[in-house]
Amino acid sequence: MTKVAIIGGSMAGISAGVALHHLGVDVAIYERAGDELASRGAGIATHDGLYEALTGAGVHLRDEMGIRSMGRLMLDSHGAEVERVDVPQVMTSWGLMYRFLRAQIPDHCYHNNYVLCDLVQDADRIVARFQNGEEATADWLIGADGTRSTVRRLVAPEVAINYCGYFGWRGLIDENLIAAPVLGELAHRMTLCLATGGHWLGYLVAGLNDDLRPGHRLYNWGWYRTADEAKLKDHLTDATGLYHEQGIPHSLIRPELVAAMQAEARAFLGPQPQTVVGATHQPFIQGMFDLGCEHLVYDRVCLVGDAAITARPHIGLGVSKAIEDATSLAIALAAQNPGAALAQWEKSRLRYGLAALAFSRDLGSYIGPTPVTPEHRAKAEYHQRPEIFLNANAPIDPQRWLKL
Ligand SMILES: Cc1cc2nc3c(=O)[nH]c(=O)nc-3n(C[C@H](O)[C@H](O)[C@H](O)COP(=O)(O)OP(=O)(O)OC[C@H]3O[C@@H](n4cnc5c(N)ncnc54)[C@H](O)[C@@H]3O)c2cc1C
Repeated sequence: MTKVAIIGGSMAGISAGVALHHLGVDVAIYERAGDELASRGAGIATHDGLYEALTGAGVHLRDEMGIRSMGRLMLDSHGAEVERVDVPQVMTSWGLMYRFLRAQIPDHCYHNNYVLCDLVQDADRIVARFQNGEEATADWLIGADGTRSTVRRLVAPEVAINYCGYFGWRGLIDENLIAAPVLGELAHRMTLCLATGGHWLGYLVAGLNDDLRPGHRLYNWGWYRTADEAKLKDHLTDATGLYHEQGIPHSLIRPELVAAMQAEARAFLGPQPQTVVGATHQPFIQGMFDLGCEHLVYDRVCLVGDAAITARPHIGLGVSKAIEDATSLAIALAAQNPGAALAQWEKSRLRYGLAALAFSRDLGSYIGPTPVTPEHRAKAEYHQRPEIFLNANAPIDPQRWLKL
């Protein structure tokens, strides 16, 4: 029986595991984190392609995968409505998606606290080595270990991770902390607000225990801020001077940085986003990085999801891309002739992933460093037009926007 080892047990890793398990392949997932993984992350905008990818992997969807949003609302910096569109969309959360997917894979296939540190492959097999001293031998290995993938670093060390020139402040708060009139205005639509140095957006997501009932939900918001690398580094440095390159724990963000961000919110955002930001006692920071590999198959190793191609989050496609990469790879690996099937898989997923990366760069073109070329300026202006801005961020119809 074919044996597959998967490194990383998040969206891409679990979906590959579920699809391979359904195809009768012997599969084992190795995840660096312990149980805390379920509490990670925040809002995820969904679209039909994500659900098609899940059902394609043999997964039965929940009745409700998240909170139903009626559409989008764009506010100006004084809180006045600029434009609204009716595009119903389900807004889910990373935690809900993770728990939903995790429940699809038997416990004996999923191993927490396994940190990959090395790989050895020959013509017949591949061996993964973990920090705890254990080893796993397989026919194929899937690298589903995210943007800072160790698998990718081992097989394609030349691939660079690019800092986009901005980071995101994010918050996830109890909806009851938001003043009722403001929540009433924001509850039914994803709200976006163009502001100096980057846009703000927010929407409701499931609450504790994936509760979708009004009064029990969380409000998820993000605010992109232009920042050079020195500023990012400063924001990832705690009060003792320690720099957390891979992400600073929320509780270690220096209070003066939070206070400065709150002051900027009062200066640059309308009253509704200000209220939400002001009600957030422990916001967190995510540096924005992107990358694209030129290949997805390296002998017995295949890369999927963010490990292969990380697009910027504006496109709202990361989860569906990860699931589609993973489930189509499972089918290729289970084929009679995996070599030919893998070549076809690599070609089609590279095309899709690189189109997603290019489009996400266009969407973020106005946030990072000031545009200097006429082409960059034109792109930045185009993507700030209200009708484009409202519909192209986390689009419900990605195929319309991707240059495939
Ligand atoms: C601000 C923001 C907003 C976003 N919004 C959306 C959205 O609205 N819609 C959407 O679809 N996507 C969104 N995304 C993107 C989405 O979250 C990612 O694309 C998706 O999580 C990628 O899944 P993945 O499984 O490839 O990687 P990840 O989710 O990064 O998982 C990688 C896993 O590998 C594990 N790992 C890492 N190294 C090792 C190792 N050495 N050994 C073992 N395990 C390891 C990690 O612990 C982790 O669990 C957003 C992202 C950001 C940053």
